Amino acid sequence: MNDQEAWRRGVRFMDEFHGRLPRHAREQLGGLLTGYRRHKREMLTLTTGSHAICRDCGGQCCLNGKYRFSGLDLLALLDQQAPLPAPDFNQKPLCPYGDAGGCRMEPAFRPLDCVLFICGAIEGVLEERAASALAPLEQELRRTVQQAETLLEQPLGRPLLLLAEHPGDMARLATYSILPSR
Ligand code: SF4
Ligand code: SF4
Repeated sequence: MNDQEAWRRGVRFMDEFHGRLPRHAREQLGGLLTGYRRHKREMLTLTTGSHAICRDCGGQCCLNGKYRFSGLDLLALLDQQAPLPAPDFNQKPLCPYGDAGGCRMEPAFRPLDCVLFICGAIEGVLEERAASALAPLEQELRRTVQQAETLLEQPLGRPLLLLAEHPGDMARLATYSILPSR
């Protein structure tokens, strides 16, 4: 299975998974995802604003990013019925979810791994107040992943492409018989 096939398979699994959730689980998940998106946006608001540095760097942190997008990151999009990214896996080593203008996803929908990564150059120019606000946001985001995984009994924090390549990992854990057999 190539990356494009894995992406399509992962999206189909997660879409069916989301569609089959009992109402109470979907509502609880929706509450978690609201915070997940908000905290990502807040974190990126604190760590961006350094376009000149990133331009000089040339976007080193956005290379080889295909495994950063998780199952939960996809659910955060499906929950809002937001347009899904159309990854281009042929532009290696550039991230399949970005282009010359940077990431094609809105801040609230970017992969958690990307949101949490703060390179040395950006860390060096962070104001003290912003830096101290980051740790609680990171804790909150990581806690949300754990809560969502516990709620749905699925390894949702794993990369979507890996979930698609090993669907048995999800099916074994499924409580709601949510996944198709293949
Ligand atoms: S965040 Fe850091 S590694 Fe990424 S593009 Fe900006 S300067 Fe480069
Ligand atoms: S998903 Fe977006 S932010 Fe993350 S590595 Fe790819 S282009 Fe960069």
